Amino acid sequence: MLTVIETFYSIEGEGPFIGVPTFFIRLSGCNLRCTWCDTKYSYSGGEKRTVESLVEEAAKYKTKFVCITGGEPLLQDEVYSLMYKLLDKEYKIILETSGSISVENVPTDENMIIAMDIKTPSSNMVEHNLYQNIELLAAKDYLKFVISDDKDYSFSKTVIEKYPFDGEVIFQPEGGKNLKELTEKVLKERLNIRVLPQLHKIIWGDKRGV
Ligand code: SF4
Repeated sequence: MLTVIETFYSIEGEGPFIGVPTFFIRLSGCNLRCTWCDTKYSYSGGEKRTVESLVEEAAKYKTKFVCITGGEPLLQDEVYSLMYKLLDKEYKIILETSGSISVENVPTDENMIIAMDIKTPSSNMVEHNLYQNIELLAAKDYLKFVISDDKDYSFSKTVIEKYPFDGEVIFQPEGGKNLKELTEKVLKERLNIRVLPQLHKIIWGDKRGV
């Protein structure tokens, strides 16, 4: 059984698949407490669900994209069984993880995308970053940095220089909307980085379940 906070059908709001209709599974529990966390309701509680019932629910939607998120989805052992079952059915899975738990047991499959955070100083969670995870990522995966201020920006640049990565690196402004300043900085410094918003927040604001 998995403990699930919510399931919903919406657009992917972050990362390279932004805008793609996606079925979301939000698992309960998180080992971190980021200062700017926008899903505090995922820390505890939720409903017990079987892997099979989640796979069946995914089939109701006309999408091949499933996002497994949290909280921190890798805290629940049965998430691996969920990933394998969805891959068997040829879904493309986006696993959103905080970067604080090893991704070594995540299936290596072309349809398995790891969307991994590196926590920036403003989160107050930097000491939880498992940098060795970066070596376990493939070019199809991506790294996300939430940027609040200049300190976060400098920190993120240092991490990228220190841990080279073939996949995409995304800077996301904290709050998901104010892109201009960050975009101009990245362009000015000729960084090979994508600056992306949280599209769901632009569309619906800080609403749950979208
Ligand atoms: S890792 Fe994600 S869910 Fe957990 S506290 Fe940080 S932002 Fe919130």
